[in-house]
Amino acid sequence: MPPQQPARKIIAVEDFVPLSTPCVNRTAWTYVKECLDTAWVSSSGQFVNRFEKSVADYVGVKFGVATSNGTSAIHAALLAAGVGPDEEVIVSSLTFIASANAIRYTGAWPVFVDIEAKYWQMDSDKVKDFIVNGCLWKNGVLTNSITGRRVTAILPVHILGHPVDIDPIRALAEEYKIQLIEDAAESLGALYKGKKVGGLGRASCFSFNGNKIITCGGGGMVLTNDESLAKRARYLTTQAKDDEVENIHGEVGYNYRQTNIQAALGVAQMEVLPRYIEAKRRIAERYAAGLKGVKGIGLMQESPDAFSIFWLYTILIDSSVCGVDRRELWQDLASRGIETRPLWQPLHRSPAYATLFKLSCEVAEKIQAQALSLPSSVNLTESQQDRVIEAVREGVSLS
Ligand SMILES: *Cc1c(COP(=O)(O)O)cnc(C)c1O
Repeated sequence: MPPQQPARKIIAVEDFVPLSTPCVNRTAWTYVKECLDTAWVSSSGQFVNRFEKSVADYVGVKFGVATSNGTSAIHAALLAAGVGPDEEVIVSSLTFIASANAIRYTGAWPVFVDIEAKYWQMDSDKVKDFIVNGCLWKNGVLTNSITGRRVTAILPVHILGHPVDIDPIRALAEEYKIQLIEDAAESLGALYKGKKVGGLGRASCFSFNGNKIITCGGGGMVLTNDESLAKRARYLTTQAKDDEVENIHGEVGYNYRQTNIQAALGVAQMEVLPRYIEAKRRIAERYAAGLKGVKGIGLMQESPDAFSIFWLYTILIDSSVCGVDRRELWQDLASRGIETRPLWQPLHRSPAYATLFKLSCEVAEKIQAQALSLPSSVNLTESQQDRVIEAVREGVSLS
């Protein structure tokens, strides 16, 4: 006789707890309806300007340039900052692949650096080690001594809602004359030493994809205090048009415009952003309280310098203590109707970047091997969350 299989529970649809779903507020209906009623549905209209102003004011920078998505925002920001073919851009190994892809779109190459173990963000010591020991600094030009390519920019990514410790990175960027562009796609509203992320470098990039804290369905934005960079980003994202009437284009641009419908959603979502951040932080607090003291589970941390928006609450599972690894726990939770997700494969290991010049990124590998993101929708109910907490506790104690 085959070994007895445990009875499979049937999960009712209403009992399914998703990882993260968008939450659409009432005013979004009003604003989107206005677009439909007036037929201002495409890539111009008052909501685009309003959304740009709203995000720029919120972050505390002068200019916002709305784009079709977060990836195009990073691409445009790098181009506008002057990054070009065969240069190199320093970026964290532990991030969503879009950060690196946008670097490649410019023709430049990513150099992946490791993260620190506590908050899982780009490690400024590793950046410094690469610049000081892995590069040549001569006549105001920084060159990777192995590849011979110029290093012209650094793209810190504030992952999972928590800011990068960016002061030491900014100091390096200034000393070695490289551009500091923030990928803040996951961290709108997070603070670093009391200042909003997105205003800490020469330019920054945001995403309003459906899985981010607020959404336009899809959308992005470049923010900057630098008027010429803003102008350049706008020019490049709107087909590099020199003359509206005669259709004269100065160079090869991009159609990275945002539509009025997307922006209408965005304007509505900006109105509830503070509430969504509170919700995310309350969810984080309840996970921390509910999972505290469970052997082998590492909780997400918040640096004393930081105000995190806890975009996706993520735990570490030490399989040598728990008896299950994150994959087994993930499967166990899935069988109970709870959706969780591992973090991204560290990019220095990605087949898409397999042949690149590589630095070792051991911390990124270790964290990724243990990390599991838990359900974190802003409308997650307390009873749903209690079920998740109970299921995690059971999952690691039954093993
Ligand atoms: C989501 C995300 C992006 C890309 O944004 P899209 O809107 O999906 O193109 C870039 N970087 C990071 C870190 C992200 O999480």
